[in-house]
Amino acid sequence: MFNLVIFGPPGAGKGTQSIQIAGKYRLAHISTGDIFRSEIRNQTPLGLKVSGIIERGELVPDELLIDLLRSAMRKCTDVRGFVFDGFPRTLRQAADLDHLLEEDGEKVNLTLALEVEDQELITRLLIRAQREGRKDDTQEVIANRLNVYQNQTSPLIEYYKKQGKFKAVRGQGTIDEIFDRLCTEIETSLSSR
Ligand code: ADP
Repeated sequence: MFNLVIFGPPGAGKGTQSIQIAGKYRLAHISTGDIFRSEIRNQTPLGLKVSGIIERGELVPDELLIDLLRSAMRKCTDVRGFVFDGFPRTLRQAADLDHLLEEDGEKVNLTLALEVEDQELITRLLIRAQREGRKDDTQEVIANRLNVYQNQTSPLIEYYKKQGKFKAVRGQGTIDEIFDRLCTEIETSLSSR
């Protein structure tokens, strides 16, 4: 299998690029943000538990992520690998993911980070707020999400760098340009296996 983590701050374009990558390389796309939004829409017990947390731009507690991820992965049978989008977001989640993949004799093969300047991120998120009306896309919550990213998620860069699995890609330009950059890295990684 080929397991890819798409990494980056809120608004970096992880969702858009993950869908295209999953399509091209026939990987299963798992977005924890999408899973939570669907739970909230359907007012499931999990959805009710996490909606306030997400609206404030905080992270859902790590303990809630691992079972969710395991069941999302188990639903995908016959896959060539996964694209993880919005997960892991903490060191604990990264360790949990490693253990989960180990259960199946697998590992994270590559982490691709989309790099975008803060000002551009804020602009993109405010535009998305108007278009999609996401409750966590207000100016105040966006600032909080960027802080949370800095404090809790960016330490993962070192975690994956130490394992030689980290590649940064410029996340500014057209969607197609960025997609090409990501594909180049994926193909380099695939061919060096
Ligand atoms: P973005 O990357 O644009 O912030 P996502 O759609 O990935 O958006 O996530 C939206 C929100 O869902 C996050 O701000 C967080 O509250 C929650 N969330 C998603 N994935 C995780 C995760 N792996 N751990 C904790 N919380 C998460």
